[in-house]
Amino acid sequence: MVTCGTLYIVATPIGNRADLSERARQVLAEVDLIAAEDTRHSGQFLAQLGIKKPLFSLHDHNEADKASVLLEKLQTGLNIALVSDAGTPLVSDPGYRLVAAVGEAGLSVVPIPGACAAIAALSVAGLATDRFVFEGFLPSRSVARRARLDALVAETRTLVFYEAPHRIVECLQEMGAVLGVERRAVLARELTKLHESIYRGSLGGLAVQAAADSNMTRGEAVLVVAGAPEAPTGAESGNRQVDKLLTTLLLHVPLSQAVDLTVEISGERRNRVYDRALALKNAV
Ligand code: SAM
Repeated sequence: MVTCGTLYIVATPIGNRADLSERARQVLAEVDLIAAEDTRHSGQFLAQLGIKKPLFSLHDHNEADKASVLLEKLQTGLNIALVSDAGTPLVSDPGYRLVAAVGEAGLSVVPIPGACAAIAALSVAGLATDRFVFEGFLPSRSVARRARLDALVAETRTLVFYEAPHRIVECLQEMGAVLGVERRAVLARELTKLHESIYRGSLGGLAVQAAADSNMTRGEAVLVVAGAPEAPTGAESGNRQVDKLLTTLLLHVPLSQAVDLTVEISGERRNRVYDRALALKNAV
């Protein structure tokens, strides 16, 4: 009877090649086949390590079909490694269907842990890490993105997002409008690379900074955002309602009109709403 092979889920660096673990290097050198998101990219990476192995393409669009082919190969006794372009496979990367199929078939799946941009960003953000939620990429369509953020308004755990560089400014502005411009946040870009930089501030402040500094929107980035405060008091929830109304209205109508509408809807005092509107307008 043939002994089934093992599927290794191998993390590769997110920038600095020295972050590849010794164990990862050894597994990549010993397996029979390497499944990769982009075989050209991974082929170059492996060539730099002096490793030459048969490569098998596995990406989001072919994974459902290719998972069963890989499962058959494991059942014939081949050992297989799965890598993605960078970091830990399956974290905003392909592999979930393959791991599910192999696990369900009763074959062994072994993690070879290493770099992950979300965890690296969290480790330097200085925001609460006892409880956090990984949100991956927000939807690219604005209605869906807004709906996703709306659903996170009361989330008290630290939020971790991946974002494409060209959407950083828009994303910070929208997060400020929905979650509150004063919410603490950290933008961690180009982690482990030459131009690694960590920006700390409020969502409103970071949005202004990113709009003015094109360096901030170059390369790869993770956004870590503080969770909402636990159980707001009556006054805090009133403030939040006023902020939410104002930030939305200020995007569409002049300040005085935004104040009038907010006073009418919330019943709050005009002076207080006006001061708040000025503060929000200056922050964004
Ligand atoms: N599997 C990867 C991991 O373990 O982090 C993530 C892959 S996902 C397709 C790519 C996203 O991860 C980028 O758009 C960016 O948000 C984030 N990312 C990857 N490398 C990064 C780096 N060196 N610095 C900051 N963010 C990074």
